[in-house]
Amino acid sequence: ALSVGIVGLPNVGKSTLFNALTKAQNAQAANYPFCTIEPNVAIVPVPDPRLTALAELVRPQQVLPATVRFTDIAGLVAGASKGEGLGNKFLAHIRETEVIIHVARAFEDDDVVHVSGSVDPARDIAVIDAELILADAQVLENRLDRMVKQTKGSKDRDLLDKVEAGKRLLDHLMNGQPASSVDGVDTPGMIALFDEIRPLSAKRVIYCANVAEGDLGQPDNPLVAKVRAIAESRGAETVVVCARMEEDLAGLTDEERLEFLASYNLDESGLDSVVRLAYRTLGLLSFFTAGPKEVRAWTIAAGTKAPAAAGQIHSDIERGFIRAEVIGFEDYLKHQTEAKCRAAGVLRQEGKEYVMADADVVHFLFNV
Ligand code: GDP
Repeated sequence: ALSVGIVGLPNVGKSTLFNALTKAQNAQAANYPFCTIEPNVAIVPVPDPRLTALAELVRPQQVLPATVRFTDIAGLVAGASKGEGLGNKFLAHIRETEVIIHVARAFEDDDVVHVSGSVDPARDIAVIDAELILADAQVLENRLDRMVKQTKGSKDRDLLDKVEAGKRLLDHLMNGQPASSVDGVDTPGMIALFDEIRPLSAKRVIYCANVAEGDLGQPDNPLVAKVRAIAESRGAETVVVCARMEEDLAGLTDEERLEFLASYNLDESGLDSVVRLAYRTLGLLSFFTAGPKEVRAWTIAAGTKAPAAAGQIHSDIERGFIRAEVIGFEDYLKHQTEAKCRAAGVLRQEGKEYVMADADVVHFLFNV
């Protein structure tokens, strides 16, 4: 599953948002008996109308959407990167995630204490960002010391490139800048370095402005505008949510949800937007397997070839890959069944070099 970490200062609404995710998870728990659930992890289905359409045609016993794994990374506060125990544990959690959802408070409420005494999402975001940058600088400093010793007298071009990249990155971090904006991110030295230290401040971020219920579906309030400006300056996306409302939404049926959202002039919930944007940000797509037992969505990166896609289902299928029988999603909708697709000649035989397309309906053939 795609892995997303929720960060933000205390009291901005992370737990409230996370509770909504947990509700969504529990509504689906019967479908995922194989998932071990940890208290700070929620595994939630990815809404996908194409999967729903496919399931209506095939009418399988079970429909399994792709999932996103959300981790609530509470406890990130000013000074976390210096923390001996706790702070570092949070940072380790972040390292494991592919996308960060950075929640910022964009609601005024005198009853909810702010850790810094006033509501200012720009300041809050800067506090968290500074911690991530500091943590990266610490990791890099340690690593760089060792790398420099290794390079003494070495003519290993790759190693020398990596050390040069390391020095540049450290300067950049020390200037308070995130790793994502360092010059030459695409150079071999920097790529190798990123692979090694996996900088937290290079992770993809989606900013999440948590607004009051009355502000939902309204033009941006000044606090949201601040969040949006920061996101734009980093080429990132912003989602406006009302965490309290997401909790209510999570308990509704699909039909009730749509009605509820329509009353705010919205067509999807904040959490659904987060999932959709996370997919888009990472360039992910889905393919489907469809049979009488189950119709299921799987997640792959754009550009993935058929054998690697098969490996998502089982490593044996990748190892023994023979070919893939592929039906484009539109073709499937048009002809309605696999047999009719075959008869119409739209079921294609694809080999090892086939690059998967979004929403392909696939059957893999393999040797055991
Ligand atoms: P966390 O520390 O970031 O996990 O924050 P919580 O989710 O515990 O929220 C802190 C407080 O803010 C709680 O009392 C929430 O009920 C409240 N809160 C969260 N979201 C909203 C919101 O959208 N509007 C208002 N008025 N209060 C909220």
